[in-house]
Amino acid sequence: MITDIAEKVYAGERLTYEDGLRLFHHHNVTELGLLADSVRWTKHPEPVVTYNVGRNINYTNVCWVRCTFCAFYRPPGHAEGYTLSDEEIFRKIDDLVTAGGAEPESCEILMQGGLNPKLRIEYYERLFSTVKARYPAVYIHSLSVAEIVYIAHISRLSVEETLVRLRNAGLSSLPGAGAEILDDEVRRVIAYRKETTDEWLDVHRTAHCIGMKSTATMMFGSVETVEHRLRHLLRVRDVQDDARARDGGYFTAFIAWSFQPEGTELEGTRKATGYDYLRTVAVARLMLDNIENIQASYVTQGPKIAQIALRYGINDFGSTMMEENVISAGGTSFVMPVQEIERLIRDAGFEPRRRNTRYEAVK
Ligand code: SF4
Repeated sequence: MITDIAEKVYAGERLTYEDGLRLFHHHNVTELGLLADSVRWTKHPEPVVTYNVGRNINYTNVCWVRCTFCAFYRPPGHAEGYTLSDEEIFRKIDDLVTAGGAEPESCEILMQGGLNPKLRIEYYERLFSTVKARYPAVYIHSLSVAEIVYIAHISRLSVEETLVRLRNAGLSSLPGAGAEILDDEVRRVIAYRKETTDEWLDVHRTAHCIGMKSTATMMFGSVETVEHRLRHLLRVRDVQDDARARDGGYFTAFIAWSFQPEGTELEGTRKATGYDYLRTVAVARLMLDNIENIQASYVTQGPKIAQIALRYGINDFGSTMMEENVISAGGTSFVMPVQEIERLIRDAGFEPRRRNTRYEAVK
């Protein structure tokens, strides 16, 4: 029974670690969904589900880190390694702007790649400033923490100096990529050469301190337990508390997605089920009382589960993406046009509404 937790939720009280554990172990996922949905309606009283027109650009797959859960990277010197030319990147942005229109900063690009030893900060400064000059419609929401930390390292800069220089060149906000599970017990197994939990959180804290917004993610379903997932959620909540106490940036959204094992060193791991996804997003909605938006992950869950998740605390359908290479390298990947996203949202009983990365309405 979770009646006492439900009473806390309806009273707007913060849930504890013990509450979260009981929620994760509660087998009636429909009850979790009802509770999470009640929080969703408190935060977003309109029957609206938002989405963003955006494009992923995986500008390089060269990476020395070799995370065991990753099927996307190619080590330096590998014949299949690539770095896109400026012209290739511009062609992708041309397609995005054709699809998304010219309203300033209404089309999101999410540039994400491997840790390529040849790309120092000057590469990103030149690329971002050129993109901003050529495409006023573009909002640059790019680079994972691992990329930021590595750019800082090979450019001999602090993380703050790196973020400030990238922001001055046109980087507007950071995606939550690379969070995986924010617990070093798990990171030591799946991403032991990557940044630690504290480093990941510190980069987002630093971004918030200089006024940048960011998002938080969680990749679940690899080797972690629900206790690890819960510690991840509470660490994100703590950083958001700090951010909200300042007048600066903060997490605009949280996105949970499930591990795709195909082609990784963890191949053979059984994929998270639809129930596990729904339970996890519902618990996230209930624990993350200080984050406004929870996004669906239709890329890993497919349109049907993502649509059902709109009744499990989710209020946003994420980005059109247009292409996806990182998750799809590990198996499942669904990418959808705007019309299909809008059809799914309408069919679930909501009005679809386009937004920009700042969660402002786009005409
Ligand atoms: S997840 Fe990122 S850092 Fe890890 S191997 Fe893949 S591209 Fe490299």
